[in-house]
Amino acid sequence: MLELIDLHTHSRWSDGVLAPAELVERAARRSVQLLALTDHDTVGGCAEAQRAAHTHGVRFIAGTELTAGWRGREVHVVGLRVRLPSAELERHCAQMMALRHERIVAMAQRLTRAGLPGEALAAGALAIPAPTRTHLARALCEQGFAKERQQAFDRWLGRGRPGYVEARWPELTEVVAHITAAGGLAVLAHPHRYALSGGELRALVDAFKQAGGAGIEVSVSGMSPKAADRAASLARRFALAGSIGSDFHEPDLPWRPLGRFAKLPEGITPIAACLD
Ligand code: MN
Ligand code: MN
Ligand code: MN
Repeated sequence: MLELIDLHTHSRWSDGVLAPAELVERAARRSVQLLALTDHDTVGGCAEAQRAAHTHGVRFIAGTELTAGWRGREVHVVGLRVRLPSAELERHCAQMMALRHERIVAMAQRLTRAGLPGEALAAGALAIPAPTRTHLARALCEQGFAKERQQAFDRWLGRGRPGYVEARWPELTEVVAHITAAGGLAVLAHPHRYALSGGELRALVDAFKQAGGAGIEVSVSGMSPKAADRAASLARRFALAGSIGSDFHEPDLPWRPLGRFAKLPEGITPIAACLD
């Protein structure tokens, strides 16, 4: 029987909108049997999610999604089954959360200089443990400075726009090392989202594998069949397990429903089998 699993989700500890317990409850209602919480650069929501998962009879995996730099690009690494507490990983997350807050403050100052109420726009983001630009985008929409989120990025928050502040992310190898040091499995998130050529993507996956990477997402919401094929061949070529997730952030984005069926392409080891 196929299992409904989800190894990539967000709560309001980062840019998701549900509390960890609400996320777990929603996953349970959708019959998700195996669930990981993977907030950006924090593991803070995992304790609450773990308790809720116990209540609802969902198997829970503590996780995170760490942001890294590779050849000047931003890439994401999901860490699954990290041991908590984990001093080194949590120290890293604390630094990243501080960096994220500093970036939001700097972006708010730039928005103010551009004539917008920067402080008011950033207030919500600064109440979040691990804020992202998405929080500013939501505020820009709510306060009438953009019609929809993409427009908020195109006008204000994207690279080269008035509110943009460059972020300096830690190197890929460092980020993978933090996950493995915490006993976790490092999974390269959404490989189709990096706008890399075939050769560059292979170089990224090669570097990731050499750093100690264990898996790659081969089925994630928003991945086209062609991109899924490409991810599957990368998994085979570099002997990485395949991971599955929704990258769920909020209930009203219907193309990212919680949970995916654990049917993986031929010849791919499911990362779930490595989590026991
Ligand atoms: Mn996100
Ligand atoms: Mn991501
Ligand atoms: Mn994500």
